[in-house]
Order: sequence, then C-alpha cells, then structure tokens
Amino acid sequence: MSTTTSSNGAKVALVTGGTRGIGLETVRQLAQAGVHTLLAGRDRNRAVEAALTLQGEGLPVEAIALDVTDAASIEAAAKDVERRHGKLDILVNNAGIIAEDRTLAKPSQQSLGAWRETFDTNVFAVVATTQAFLPLLQKAPAARVVNVSSLLGSLTAHSDPASPIYDFKAIPAYNASKSAVNSWTVHLAYELRDTPIKVNAVHPGYVKTDMNGGEGEIDVPTGAKTSVRMALLDADGPSGGFVYLGDTLPW
Ligand code: NDP
Repeated sequence: MSTTTSSNGAKVALVTGGTRGIGLETVRQLAQAGVHTLLAGRDRNRAVEAALTLQGEGLPVEAIALDVTDAASIEAAAKDVERRHGKLDILVNNAGIIAEDRTLAKPSQQSLGAWRETFDTNVFAVVATTQAFLPLLQKAPAARVVNVSSLLGSLTAHSDPASPIYDFKAIPAYNASKSAVNSWTVHLAYELRDTPIKVNAVHPGYVKTDMNGGEGEIDVPTGAKTSVRMALLDADGPSGGFVYLGDTLPW
C-alpha cells in the first residue's frame, strides 16, 4: 500500500504534528469529510505508519515528512506538495510543545533555553511553515489557515482573577508562544483580507493527550473539532479570529 495517492480534484489539507494527539485526529476528521489530507510528521516512518492506519480505515490520507523547526525540511515539504498536488487548500499549524519544567512554580525560574525551544516550535515554525506554503495556498480557490493556539495565550483570561486559567502561570514561555501565534494570526489575516484566504487561531479545549500526561477535560475527537470546523469554514466565516467550537475567545 502506497502513502502517496491522487487527490482527484478534492480539497488538499496538510496537518503538522499529525502523528498523534489532536493532529492525528484532525487528519482523520478532515479525511472523513472527504478532504485529501497530508499527515505531516517529523519522523517519516511514524508518519507513514499513521497514514497507513488511516488508509486502512478507507480514508484519503498520505504521509509527508515535515520537521517544522527545520528550514530545509519545510522547503522540501512545500516542494513535495507542489509536485504532488500543485496547491494546498488547508494548512493546520498544529505541531506544538511544552519545553518548560512544569515542577517550577515561578514564571521567573524558567530557563531562556526553554523559552527559545518553545518559540522555535510554537511560533517561528508556524511563521516559517505558513510562509513556505503561502504560494500553494494562493493557488487554491479559497484556502484556510488554522493556527492551533490555546486559551493559555489569552492575556485577557490571564489578567482576569475570575478566569479558570488565572492561576495557570507555571509555563510562561508556552503561554507567551500562544499569545504570539494569536498576534501572527491577526497580522496575516489582515494582510490577506482582500483575498478568499481565511486565517484563524483556535483553542482545542483542555484535551486528554500526551502533552497533558493524558489528563484533560475532553477527549481527543472533541479536541480536534475546532480545528476541523475552521479548516472547513464557509466563505461567510470569520478571519483573524480566536475561537473554541462556536465561541469567540478574548485575546
Ligand atoms: P501532543 O504532545 O500529543 O502532540 C504534539 C504533536 O506535535 C506530535 O505529533 C509531535 O510530533 C508534533 N511536533 C512537535 N514538535 C514538532 C516538530 N518540530 N515538527 C513536527 N511535529 C512536531 O500534543 P497535542 O495533540 O495535545 O497538541 C496539539 C496542539 O494543540 C499543540 O499546538 C498544543 O499546543 C495545542 N493545545 C493542546 C491542548 C491540550 O489540552 N492538549 C490545549 C491547548 C492547545 P512527534 O510525535 O514526532 O513528537
């Protein structure tokens, strides 16, 4: 069984960090919606393995190697998608990490190294991946860019003692990285405001994935729903927004 198949005129999506967690489920749900979906993973073998599993479920999924922190890998992946499909309808910037030591209670104790590692994956990689794929997104009739952010990036929520995340300040680099992604979302949406391309940031919810040691309030299929919803957004949908399911979140 090959992991490279023809999109036959269907919409084409690419999901970064598609090997597990919310990303893998986003791939599954997009493919179930009939979108030809590229499951991108930094480890080619694991991406192929995951794609073969979804192909076994009868879904139009193919694997692609993409380490979002590696400029050469991003460039190669963009060339690969151009060669395979000539366009990209949906880009879901889902890959993300928490690099900080969660046992440290004070924000000021986190190392600069952890800040850099966090921003490399959660911010700079989102910008670099989007820049590389923008020419292909512009070749699609009405592309969608979904940036997987977090409510932890909301400065409004962090400043509100009544917010459930008010006391959640042990991982400042992660939280700030999602604030930066939100800002990037607003800037790119503004740049593309006179085009059919829509760019939105999403909060998946507090999801039971490896990132949280399996803890969370919602299961992984529910956690993928907001990304999928914004990936399949109609022409009258928002751009430059920050959403969770049907709700708009405060910046
Ligand atoms: P997981 O830790 O379960 O999965 C993270 C994914 O990102 C993995 O596929 C991982 O790949 C991939 N990844 C990490 N670094 C890179 C890289 N350099 N290149 C390519 N892929 C990479 O996390 P979740 O599924 O929970 O999180 C997905 C997104 O949702 C993240 O952006 C996260 O910040 C966000 N989010 C999650 C929440 C939650 O409650 N879980 C809440 C709010 C936001 P590999 O398998 O190779 O390690």
